[in-house]
Amino acid sequence: MTLAPGNGPVQITQEQLQARIQEIAARIREDYRGLEPHLICVLNGAFMFHTDLVRALNMPCTIDFLQASSYGNAKQSSGEVRIVKDLQFPISDRHVVLVEDIVDTGITMNYLLHYLEGRGPRSLKIAALLSKPSRRKVEIPVEYLGFTIPDAFVYGYGLDRAQFDRNLPFITSQE
Ligand code: IMP
Repeated sequence: MTLAPGNGPVQITQEQLQARIQEIAARIREDYRGLEPHLICVLNGAFMFHTDLVRALNMPCTIDFLQASSYGNAKQSSGEVRIVKDLQFPISDRHVVLVEDIVDTGITMNYLLHYLEGRGPRSLKIAALLSKPSRRKVEIPVEYLGFTIPDAFVYGYGLDRAQFDRNLPFITSQE
């Protein structure tokens, strides 16, 4: 699903977000039928998406939180990723879904994929609310994607603008 393909600002309403999350939850429920997926939230940006996604799942699942840093307060990735907050629970033999707010260059997700693969999950998939494919430096497989957006800095619904505006219930790129 692509939004705002022209030069206009990106606007994803609360209703559009919730409708899309219901669709993603339905797909995960189907794909993991009879299993108990482990949904890892990549802090901070994915906290709202993760919350709404697990709430919409309506199936047995477990959760954990992971925080990686590559940005600081900058709008561009430094290219260096480090783990700021590690997982609480082991993931060996678990069906893991890594829940991320946005895949931009792909550097963060690529790092986290390798990091988590080293811990022996039975399966490992990515759910990302947003993707900016035109910015990609590393190709990564996103199994569950909310919206494809153009190259614009977006904020709201968990994503920050210099740490503010995460609490907006919608996503926008408007100044
Ligand atoms: P990547 O490593 O370049 O893919 O960057 C991923 C991370 O950069 C995301 O998890 C976000 O925290 C941050 N990020 C990238 N683009 C945006 C944006 O448009 N708004 C807010 N944060 C962003």
